[in-house]
Amino acid sequence: MKSNKKPYKSKINKIRTFALSLIFIGFIIMYGAIFFREHQWLVMIFMTLGILCIIASTAVYAWIGFLSTQAVMVECPNCHKHTKVLGRVDMCMFCNEPLTLDKSLEGKEFNQDYNNKSKHHTNG
Ligand SMILES: [Zn+2]
Repeated sequence: MKSNKKPYKSKINKIRTFALSLIFIGFIIMYGAIFFREHQWLVMIFMTLGILCIIASTAVYAWIGFLSTQAVMVECPNCHKHTKVLGRVDMCMFCNEPLTLDKSLEGKEFNQDYNNKSKHHTNG
């Protein structure tokens, strides 16, 4: 199986994608309210849900800001850009190179199991 897509994303990037999609979902829900113009209560529900999504996204962005202060700044050995590492193992934000802060894991094949229970392996 050939794929140019790297299997993992940096945690901060993942959360950022989630926050961005929440904004889109919020706007789509609010846009959906237009189709229920005749039913005022449905419009109210859609508008409220949409606003809740956008508020949630703002909260997630604030959370990213908090996580960033906890993350460790390292220079990526692959692309030599400065990236933030969250937890024991994380991806480079720019090239998705697996990085580790734990010396005991250095040189070992990267395994997402160090972070959670998903059963994926890197290809090469
Ligand atoms: Zn990199």
